Amino acid sequence: MSLPKAELHLHIEGTLEPELAFTLAARNGVELPYKDTEELRRAYLFQDLQSFLDLYYGLMAVLHTEDDFAELAEAYLARAATQGVRHAEIFFDPQAHTSRGVPIGTVIEGLARALDRSLERHGISTLLIMCFLRDESAESAMETLDAAKPHLHRIAAVGLDSAEAGHPPSKFREVYKAADALGLRKVAHAGEEGPPAYIREALDVLGVERIDHGLRCMEDPELVERLVRERVPLTLCPLSNVRLRAVDTLEEHPLARMMDAGLLCTVNSDDPAYFGGYVGDTFHAVHEALGLGEERLRELARNSFVASFLEGDEERRARLIAEVETYDFP
Ligand SMILES: [Zn+2]
Repeated sequence: MSLPKAELHLHIEGTLEPELAFTLAARNGVELPYKDTEELRRAYLFQDLQSFLDLYYGLMAVLHTEDDFAELAEAYLARAATQGVRHAEIFFDPQAHTSRGVPIGTVIEGLARALDRSLERHGISTLLIMCFLRDESAESAMETLDAAKPHLHRIAAVGLDSAEAGHPPSKFREVYKAADALGLRKVAHAGEEGPPAYIREALDVLGVERIDHGLRCMEDPELVERLVRERVPLTLCPLSNVRLRAVDTLEEHPLARMMDAGLLCTVNSDDPAYFGGYVGDTFHAVHEALGLGEERLRELARNSFVASFLEGDEERRARLIAEVETYDFP
């Protein structure tokens, strides 16, 4: 749990715990279709992707003001600090809020308020990654990028998330080109439910530096070879893969095989309020279920800093990696 680590695949909307959802609902006069936090907590035990997405987007209705977004991010950072997180690159989905009438500036400035004081308060350095919803149109993604322009100093990178099947990376070629021209870095979800070809497209068409998930590369040995050769980081989310049925059980997760193949793997929590654990819990779970020993856990932690966008502070990256190397497991 206390092993220093970076979290590189974390949707801030996926950190909304039932208690905070009820607090924000009461404050904003939003009626939730659940009697209390207990009943909502039970709804978090969804059985399939659709019921997860319904709940996930439904609950966002409680987020309205800058204060709400600041509180959401602050709650995550406080929790992450107890899980050994020292650096976090945080996804947010502006379209999920602007489509409800919340201005993009409210979302970004609210999140940024919590992120700005994170290093001092929690010892966690942070970056923001703005994601486009891939089941929305390419035009909508471009409008989102345009709307974000007054806030670009807050944003380090763009990403691509939500339902993957039928929405190949190439659909977003133009908006990634525009993001690149604005100096933003690029990542994308690919190869979670979509085929290995989507991973190639994300690399070749969008020019991404990291693949989020990328699990299904294992179906394509040539692609694995390339990812190893080019040292492309993968941000894996084992607990999410189990809950969304990408794998049947954690014991069957290919993480150990992927590390054996020489892939630059990291483990992350994705939507921790919904998927049964934060990133420290995830390290613990893969240790238990996959028998990953201390050196493998150390490798995952080291990889998380290697794969991070800490180029602006190489000194911090080197210091955190040194802490991982000398960490004494309890
Ligand atoms: Zn994700």
